[in-house]
Amino acid sequence: MELRIGWLYGHEMNIYGDRGNVLALLHRARGRGLDASVEICGLGDDFDPACYDVLFWGGGQDREQVSVSADLQGAKGSALKSAIDDGVPLLAVCGGYQLLGDGYRPYEGEKLPGIRALDITSEAGPTRFIGNVVIDSPEFGALVGFENHSGLTFLGPGVEPLGRVRVGHGNNGRDGFEGARYRNTIGCYLHGALLPKNPQVTDWLIGVALERRGVADTLDPLGAEVESAAHRAVLRRALQLGR
Ligand code: GLN
Repeated sequence: MELRIGWLYGHEMNIYGDRGNVLALLHRARGRGLDASVEICGLGDDFDPACYDVLFWGGGQDREQVSVSADLQGAKGSALKSAIDDGVPLLAVCGGYQLLGDGYRPYEGEKLPGIRALDITSEAGPTRFIGNVVIDSPEFGALVGFENHSGLTFLGPGVEPLGRVRVGHGNNGRDGFEGARYRNTIGCYLHGALLPKNPQVTDWLIGVALERRGVADTLDPLGAEVESAAHRAVLRRALQLGR
């Protein structure tokens, strides 16, 4: 089976190492005997969820989010929302995460409408949150990453957070939570990139994709020595520095 990775706005929204998430998916799929390919679906491209087994959507500055938000109004955004509701595995980081909800209000300018797939809302705050992050996720254990955002995200009543913040600011620096979970979607503020340092999430995304294709996840296990060493190094540093 070929794992088809859809990289949403790979040209427009790819900052703070986000591309590493696509490379990690490729690496852990191919390392476990799967063929794997990546296709970028960007501004003006049609989005057909049937073409992809797993989706990644990276972060972007306010300027890029303006054009991406506009590009998602109408059929394209609805198709992405349906794919999310249908359970397509998706990892969305920071600017991409923000546009999964009702939208993002930058510090200056109009609110940028999102695709309303998750009951979350985001607005720019007065302070930019920058630094290492450590969270404790009930599903994935300790996760490490890097945050750099002015956006504050608030979860609606039906949305579970990805985890509780141990180091860093997370969603809004107030409620102690980071990220959001909805069906097979993970939204978070964790750049770095996230997946190369948290291989359990990479394997989870691949496993969900296989299951949806009716292929039992019986592929060869793949060691994660390098990923785990990177995880431990960031964890140690973040706990020492407290940021
Ligand atoms: N522009 C958004 C913010 O500042 C997202 C930034 C990002 O993707 N890192 O919050």
